[in-house]
Amino acid sequence: MNGISPRRLVQLRILLEKGGEARFYWWPEWLQLRGDVLELDRHECQLCKARGRYSQATIVHHVKHLRDRPDLALSIWDPDTHERQLVSVCKACHEAEHPEALRKFEPRKAPLTAERWD
Ligand SMILES: [Zn+2]
Ligand SMILES: [Zn+2]
Repeated sequence: MNGISPRRLVQLRILLEKGGEARFYWWPEWLQLRGDVLELDRHECQLCKARGRYSQATIVHHVKHLRDRPDLALSIWDPDTHERQLVSVCKACHEAEHPEALRKFEPRKAPLTAERWD
């Protein structure tokens, strides 16, 4: 199974509109595909791997975020770039991929300044 059905895409857009996208992560299609992606990546974080490190992957990440591209919600491969759209990642890498989610937890953190980048 690869790609979202038109009926599911309509349902997902409604969930996103209502802020109920957490329900997507319980869809049987997602749970199945998520398992397939983890297996494909041998449960190894692909972002750590690219940096020569090993971490166990616990999360399957949407490279083009669910909210931006619900049509790619159930696509392992991105049809536009032919690169991976779903990748296995560790928790630390996943948080780095979602700075918007982190900001919710650290609202008072000072913004990054030029010096902090060295
Ligand atoms: Zn990682
Ligand atoms: Zn993600």
